[in-house]
Amino acid sequence: MSRLSTRLLNWYNKHKRILPWRDHPDPYAVWVSEIMLQQTRVETVIPYFEKWMKLFPTIKKLAKANEQDVLNAWEGLGYYSRARNLHKSAKVVAEKFNGELPRNLDDLKSLAGIGKYTVGAIASMAFGMDEATLDGNLRRIFSRLFDVKEFADSPAGEKILWSLARENLPKGKAGDYNQALMDLGSTICLPKNPKCLLCPLIQICEARKKGVQELRPILKPKKKTPQYIDVAVVVLRRDEVLLNQRPADGLLANMWEFPNARLAEAAVLGGVKSKEIVKSLKAQTKIQVKQKEALGIVNHAYTHFKVSVHVYQCDLISIPK
Ligand code: SF4
Repeated sequence: MSRLSTRLLNWYNKHKRILPWRDHPDPYAVWVSEIMLQQTRVETVIPYFEKWMKLFPTIKKLAKANEQDVLNAWEGLGYYSRARNLHKSAKVVAEKFNGELPRNLDDLKSLAGIGKYTVGAIASMAFGMDEATLDGNLRRIFSRLFDVKEFADSPAGEKILWSLARENLPKGKAGDYNQALMDLGSTICLPKNPKCLLCPLIQICEARKKGVQELRPILKPKKKTPQYIDVAVVVLRRDEVLLNQRPADGLLANMWEFPNARLAEAAVLGGVKSKEIVKSLKAQTKIQVKQKEALGIVNHAYTHFKVSVHVYQCDLISIPK
């Protein structure tokens, strides 16, 4: 075993986090946890994971569930395409693989929502295979340990980082190795202010030796995030509220929402005007309203854009038939 993996695994044996999907290497549980953990913190995931496993304890149960129940169980976790892909893939696994997650890496990769990272995580943690993986935590750790100067989010940087993850992988212990790196990245080798003095790898960390750990990984310069202004209308009729279902494809597919429209940049210069709200909503949704009072502004950041939603109570004039 390399110096890196010996030190790392010794540390992991003493400090590993107790997580509900660990020590029960049910491939389905590992799969669900890995998908939930994408873009989401462990503390947030734990209650969702526990609820999910009660509602859909097997792949076959998940395959038979209806989509709305699946989305309800995911509600609040965000990035709903993850839930849809889990559901879609469960149907394939139930049909093609008798409800058992396949061990063959190409079969695993063919499932919706399972990329190179998830394949490595499932293969090592659930099947004990000698497979490396590379999530954001691991990318950061290897960039720092080996002072990688390529952009970590470029194809060349990715290639170097995957090689480092593979070269240092201890045979027969890949599951622990990958999980130890994930724990180290979440608790010690943090993006900002890494706790180097507590790190089991401090003696072999190149970036720390040079004092550049906070400058690694090096990432490509970010493009400016677009900022949009939307209007959303709340139309009440007795105890009913008007909702619109989003299209079956794209962002938040099939979800229900208050009717809304995006305002053109020119239209919001000098403030959101009543005439523009009514006009944009009619043009984009064919819903005609009469604006009443302003209810507030909700700001939300998605991965690729930010939006400020100006919310108004309105009276309904007409909706498309
Ligand atoms: S020494 Fe510091 S920068 Fe290096 S791996 Fe450990 S925590 Fe990360």
